[in-house]
Amino acid sequence: MEAADIVEGVAVTVTDEKRSETGLASQWSRIRSRLRAEFGEAAYRSWLKPASFEVVDAETVRILAPTRFMRDWIETQYGERLKRLWSEENPEVRQLEIVHVGTEIEPAAAVPAVPRVETEKNGDDVGALLDPRFRFENFVVGKPNELAFAAARRVGEAQSVPFNPLFLYGGVGLGKTHLMHAIAWHIRKTNPERRVIYLSAEKFMYQFIRAMRYKDTMAFKEQFRSVDVLMIDDVQFFSGKDNTQEEFFHTFNALVDQNRQIVISADKSPNDLEGMEERMKSRLGWGLVADIHPTIYELRLGILQSKAERMAVDIPLKVMEFLAHKITSNVRELEGALNRLVAYANLVGRPITLDNTQEVLHDILRANDRRVTIEEIQKRVAEHYNIRLGEMHSARRSRAIARPRQVAMYLAKQLTARSLPEIGKKFGGRDHTTVMHAVRKIDELCALDSAFSEDVELLRRMLES
Ligand code: ADP
Ligand code: MG
Repeated sequence: MEAADIVEGVAVTVTDEKRSETGLASQWSRIRSRLRAEFGEAAYRSWLKPASFEVVDAETVRILAPTRFMRDWIETQYGERLKRLWSEENPEVRQLEIVHVGTEIEPAAAVPAVPRVETEKNGDDVGALLDPRFRFENFVVGKPNELAFAAARRVGEAQSVPFNPLFLYGGVGLGKTHLMHAIAWHIRKTNPERRVIYLSAEKFMYQFIRAMRYKDTMAFKEQFRSVDVLMIDDVQFFSGKDNTQEEFFHTFNALVDQNRQIVISADKSPNDLEGMEERMKSRLGWGLVADIHPTIYELRLGILQSKAERMAVDIPLKVMEFLAHKITSNVRELEGALNRLVAYANLVGRPITLDNTQEVLHDILRANDRRVTIEEIQKRVAEHYNIRLGEMHSARRSRAIARPRQVAMYLAKQLTARSLPEIGKKFGGRDHTTVMHAVRKIDELCALDSAFSEDVELLRRMLES
């Protein structure tokens, strides 16, 4: 959300703005762009774009899908996310109905926007909603996130402030928000009298600008300065937003001085946050800086197993291993793939197999196709044929050396987007015709010799996984 968007709405009070048709329409349009960014253009165009929305009453919003199938699909695939986004955009929306146009609307079709008992706003209306799934118990710990997890637990369980701030950073979809919510849930359960506020940096800015507009910055400051634990998510958002940064800096210092706990997340380490003032960067690095590394295979498999168990669905181990190998981008995508698979299996009433997994997830799988490098190919092939890596670049022509080299060139052509001259260059500066010849030769041999062909296929699969 741009500052300008907010400033333009000056004329109406916030509640009115939230409820008005135009307010809701722009909320819906923001939600749609978020979903588009998260699920990709293709999914957006086939499922979300055709849907419209209408307001039922102050608390209820209805999403209209053109067909029953689309309704089901939207609900299973995007329902949770839609609910969450609506409640983030507008806490007054408590019910979300997804219907197909022309359905008789029965009360049973309504899904509560947020499980009411579980999800409460944290700290008046300053904070954001907590996701009931984001708890420590649901967080799978592995090498890449063990430090961040331990630090978050420590903050959640501590009676005093163990380090200030706790700065969590890592790429998108790796569990930063999950850990922050988990801290809040834990404190709420074990120390309900402590005041915890969790909010996004975006929301912090929004509230700050609103306070300035209504000349009410005192109350704004008070809200934050009376908390025990303040958590601000995604502070990279403050980059270049000087006024907000300044205010955040003061709030931050005031809280640290009073020995209140602060938890911050960002997509980069404090030092690497561009557009952040130096004094802010150094302040942010004062406490414990814990990074969440990209996932590794074992963690991905663990997460899939834990989620499948929670959803009580039967997914063959082979399928989970396959997904853990293939979907390497982040946990959010991994979850998305699993959800889609389960929705598919439910809809068509068939068990999940490796075959239908590949079919149902082909777009996700393609996007996650690992970019294999020529160097990796050379290394793998050299190992496989038991020759020295240096032979990939050497001028030796004995068959025991030349054949593996040709296999490597062939795989480089197949698995990378490199051109023939580029490939030639990486193999000791050979000419593109040499590469072309190698590709043809290996093709020929594969056609003639099935054992050889299997061998090459095996190498390919190892490189792709
Ligand atoms: P970030 O804030 O870092 O972008 P999130 O915390 O929103 O990422 O995580 C994205 C999704 O992945 C969430 O649904 C979250 O529950 C899930 N997730 C991430 N890491 C883990 C983990 N280690 N165990 C279980 N779920 C995880
Ligand atoms: Mg997040």
